[in-house]
Amino acid sequence: MKGAYWMDKIMVTRSSMPPFDEYVEEIRDLWDTRWLTNMGKKHERLRSELKDYLKVDNIDLLVNGHMALELTMQALGLKGEVITTPFTFASTTHAIVRNNLKPVFCDIKPEDFTIDPEKIEDLITDNTSAIVAVHVYGNVCDVDTIQKIADKYELKVIYDASHAFGVTVNGIGIGNFGDASTFSFHATKVFNTIEGGAVCYRDEEIGKKVYDLKNFGIHGPEKIDAVGANAKLNEFCAAMGLCNLRHIDEEIEKRKKVAKRYRENFDGVRGISINPIQKGIVNNYPYFPVIFDEKIYGASRNQIFAELEKNGIFARKYFYPITNTFDCYHDNFDSYYTPIALHLSKRVITLPMYADLEENDVDRICKIVLDCRS
Ligand SMILES: *Cc1c(COP(=O)(O)O)cnc(C)c1O
Repeated sequence: MKGAYWMDKIMVTRSSMPPFDEYVEEIRDLWDTRWLTNMGKKHERLRSELKDYLKVDNIDLLVNGHMALELTMQALGLKGEVITTPFTFASTTHAIVRNNLKPVFCDIKPEDFTIDPEKIEDLITDNTSAIVAVHVYGNVCDVDTIQKIADKYELKVIYDASHAFGVTVNGIGIGNFGDASTFSFHATKVFNTIEGGAVCYRDEEIGKKVYDLKNFGIHGPEKIDAVGANAKLNEFCAAMGLCNLRHIDEEIEKRKKVAKRYRENFDGVRGISINPIQKGIVNNYPYFPVIFDEKIYGASRNQIFAELEKNGIFARKYFYPITNTFDCYHDNFDSYYTPIALHLSKRVITLPMYADLEENDVDRICKIVLDCRS
């Protein structure tokens, strides 16, 4: 028997899935074709449908968002130093380091958590080859200023757009900025293929390189001309993507309602800051981050987090810790140089956010948060 509703756990997210029968129908013909991976029919159909949905000219699909980042950096032939931010998921920094590149950490803007373009130029040296920026929580980076800097110093620009699926900037798809933008279709993301990812790119040559790199660098039956990996999206994952894509607008609309409910609950509360609404941008509501200023609010982030947990509500401290303080990196980097990212990482909670989160659950979460105030 199901317990009382307040006994049920609420996780930070819950994967979107199509109706069971719809997925079964979508995978049925795989038992005839026996083509399960290696750029099959579903892979190609998903690629074409995503090209339309994301309003981009070029896209390729990969096994996950991390390999999209790693192989895009390899395809672009980056060398030396890469300017990036530590307020991101481990993947962004790891992809840089795993390409034998040196991450140079730039601080973020306190308003929207994205790279502060005013701080980029001071970090550029003769060894800098690229800027790798993140559209954190679906907030769009200052793409125009970043491109101006990149043009001036002849740097490549890669956006980690894992949080920004379907976001548009004055009607332009988010995948159209920089040299390339990567997406994650992980189970926890706004659009999922169970595991999966993509890269949108400007230069077709880069696309060809990624295409080979995701299949061991095999260019033809007897030609292997790059040190590739195995990062192909399989047909069962592509099928999940085809199904989920049919429902994506409805899913984002439901997320928008959840976000609105949170906003109403927190409206006018002192010591709380909520994610900004950026002008000209259609958001996808991937997370609901809240920053708590303990002195004004009367409770610390960690107190609030623990109180939620006691009530079966599992929020996340996303992004805490920031990547330049990770055990595997802290000997090499210093968060002293990214004080805003460090400050925010100690105060942020991302509250539960998914399409089917009910309004009364949002209200209950908010009540617990608000009752923490002393
Ligand atoms: C999810 C995520 C990734 C990694 O994507 P995977 O599909 O899990 O490999 C990279 N960067 C950011 C910002 C993410 O949120």
